[in-house]
Amino acid sequence: MKKRTSKKIALIGTGFVGMSYAYSLLNQGYGNELVLIDVNKQKAEGEAMDLNHGLPFAPAKLRIHAGDYGDCADADLVVITAGAAQKPGQSRLDLLRVNAEIMRIITDQVIGSGFDGIFLVATNPVDVLTQVVLRESEWDRKRVIGSGCTLDTARLRYEIGKRLNIDSRDIQGFVLGEHGDSEFVAWSRVTVGGKPIAEVIEETPLLKWEEIDHIYRSVRDAAEEIIRRKHATYYGIGMSLVRITKAILNDENAILPISSLVVDEYPEAKGVCMGLPTQVHRQGVDHIIRIRLSEDEVTQLATSANILRESLSAVGL
Ligand code: NAD
Repeated sequence: MKKRTSKKIALIGTGFVGMSYAYSLLNQGYGNELVLIDVNKQKAEGEAMDLNHGLPFAPAKLRIHAGDYGDCADADLVVITAGAAQKPGQSRLDLLRVNAEIMRIITDQVIGSGFDGIFLVATNPVDVLTQVVLRESEWDRKRVIGSGCTLDTARLRYEIGKRLNIDSRDIQGFVLGEHGDSEFVAWSRVTVGGKPIAEVIEETPLLKWEEIDHIYRSVRDAAEEIIRRKHATYYGIGMSLVRITKAILNDENAILPISSLVVDEYPEAKGVCMGLPTQVHRQGVDHIIRIRLSEDEVTQLATSANILRESLSAVGL
């Protein structure tokens, strides 16, 4: 991979999630060029036109246009938010197979362009589909990243911050594992302004141990609750993807709970892509960070990895 400083992003999938990401990029004044690619070309064109009309009010210039896979050739980052929506009567497994096939086709086309940057996948089930892109590309695991538990972790920080009346940015901790039902909170590692959550709970009447499980469930079930009310979730993930984009393209060495292939960092999750604290920079993953987990958390990690292994075998991985 060549050393680069440009910030060209190719976005594949201009639906709710893709366009929330694009809108966040524009509003945060981030990037040099944004190419919108979708199987529905007209949609990508319309979205590009609409976004461009916001440029006079944006904090920085951004070249935005609809394009095709050839435009990925000199992109620094390809973000995949494309996917089929669940059809009535279609099982999750059938949808998984459809989206896995879509990922394979997209990966082949992106690589066929000569793309030599980093893949960032958000389409669900994100951990499995990140692994599909990794396998299809045959790239080094450091260059294929999924959004993992970045959004879930943001939800956790928001929920704790709200209860304690503390800025969510001062809540540190992680949701780990599958972005899905088997995800878990590494409570033993959550801190508030550097203070372990156990000490916080001892000292404040604002948060009790009995509420911890409720917080976990509200984080885990957030997507379902939002979808029940407005049929999709997109702003939170859009901003999460911008955060990951900046960590990569700014060469930040930031630590984020993104999804990438575990080799021997966590033996229980060997061979599986899942959300774990990971140092991220311009070349993608630097390394997955080993944090000490409680016995119970290690069991949850292993359960989550086994659930992901079942989905992987359903798509022939
Ligand atoms: P959407 O239906 O609004 O958009 C999907 C887009 O993909 C559409 O514009 C469609 O035309 C396009 N598309 C479909 N097949 C394509 C192909 N082969 N090539 C190019 N484009 C193609 O859906 P959405 O609400 O934007 O959600 C997108 C994905 O993001 C879903 O899988 C959703 O579950 C996921 N999501 C992930 C997270 C996360 O935390 N990772 C959070 C929310 C949503």
